[in-house]
Amino acid sequence: MIWLLFVLAIDQRYHTFNEVAHELDSIALCYPEITLLDTIGYSTTDSMPIFAMKISDNVEINEDEPEILYVALHHAEELLGLEVCMYMSDELVTDYQLDSTITNWVNEREIWFVPLLNPDGHSVVMEGIDTTWRKNKRDNNNNGIFDLDYDGVDPNRNYDFYWSKGGSSDPSSEYYRGPAPFSDAENRALRDLCLAHNFIFCNTYHSARTGLGEVIYYPWRAPGYYSPDYPFIRLVADSMSKLIVNEAGNGHYYALPGSGVDGRARNWIYGICGTFCYCVEICTTTIVPGWMVDDICLRNSIGAYYLLNRVNSTGITGCIYDSLTGEPLQAEVVINGFYDPTLPPRMSDPTYGRFLRILGDGTFDIEIHKKGYESFHLTGVVVEPGKMLELNVLLKKKEVTSIIPADTPNLMIFPNPTRNVMTICVANPDQFSSLKIYDISGRVLKDFENPSSNILIWLVKDNMDRDLANGVYYVIGETTDAKFVRKIVINN
Ligand SMILES: [Zn+2]
Repeated sequence: MIWLLFVLAIDQRYHTFNEVAHELDSIALCYPEITLLDTIGYSTTDSMPIFAMKISDNVEINEDEPEILYVALHHAEELLGLEVCMYMSDELVTDYQLDSTITNWVNEREIWFVPLLNPDGHSVVMEGIDTTWRKNKRDNNNNGIFDLDYDGVDPNRNYDFYWSKGGSSDPSSEYYRGPAPFSDAENRALRDLCLAHNFIFCNTYHSARTGLGEVIYYPWRAPGYYSPDYPFIRLVADSMSKLIVNEAGNGHYYALPGSGVDGRARNWIYGICGTFCYCVEICTTTIVPGWMVDDICLRNSIGAYYLLNRVNSTGITGCIYDSLTGEPLQAEVVINGFYDPTLPPRMSDPTYGRFLRILGDGTFDIEIHKKGYESFHLTGVVVEPGKMLELNVLLKKKEVTSIIPADTPNLMIFPNPTRNVMTICVANPDQFSSLKIYDISGRVLKDFENPSSNILIWLVKDNMDRDLANGVYYVIGETTDAKFVRKIVINN
């Protein structure tokens, strides 16, 4: 009797590791102005590079722009996420400056891809050794041989967020969580990338081997335990899922809250970093015929791109500054009622002082805290649907150790240029006899009579409450013996 061993060949439409490496290299070579290809780590067993691709204008610089991350292939056999990431990277660079929406995203956002987090496991699948392999290749029994029935860690159970409650402690399990949290290099690579950035959104791509496909899971709902941003995370998941048409073509993906108490990526990335992180289960199974892949990528990209628009919609953003020096501050931003003291504080960016919180429309109370500074508390902040409210905050030091004497008048403007809100900070306002906005011909457009407050939030409107046109203006404050002139730019 002749036994035929069938090795299920993986369709050539799917990228091998070498094809991923080559394609990312080509993109980086052809589009050096808007792409940055980085290696964020090396795989646990075979030391294969784990790539990250950043797409943005002025790509070498960390600009004051919202960051979004797309990650695929925690799980080796779930090939479609890698294809979605490659598809989107390719589309963003080739349509840059051809398509106005894509150009705007690339210019105004910092978009990151980690398309192949688990290259060791991926090679097990692509080489046909086991096309249903899920884990990486950690040598659990240290015998120097790759044992299909005993080796490997499930990379999506290895994060240090309720790690011991997720997956399995049995190395032979396909859900083995590893010997310790962050024991594996793949997880440390993604951890370090996330900690070094302020990602607003992250999609981690999977495909369901069993159970439900075409679902977007979000953090989190366990009995009696909701994620603090639950209503807003959910709104985004609902909107994103409705944009992705399902395989059957008769509906769309749907959104479900996932459990928060395990070592999954989405829970760690949200719980520790504050990033709204989604697990997108692409398609109804893990590997489909190659001819289906392009269509799946196209439909999923529409959901993924939604996040690039959503960062500029309903929510609050702004920068936090030292009231005397104007230095950007890293401070804690608390939205009252949507706060969990057991999680790390949600901080503004250290470079720009920028915070950005995705909310729903409504009225919010905001507190800003920083050690050594007086806390700032703002109630009744109205967030309108579809609008990202800009709110810049000046924190006052508790003990003034600045070299500027406390009684020196001063005038500071943030941000400049501005779109629609400007914060004018007046140190010692009682010393100012006038504070006015002039156009370049010297006409007074706005008169802040008696500037009695330290902080003036100006909606760039004139005395008649009309919007000012784009252009250059001057803020001029006068005291009895000094004149403070600040040139400002309105760029709506
Ligand atoms: Zn998965």
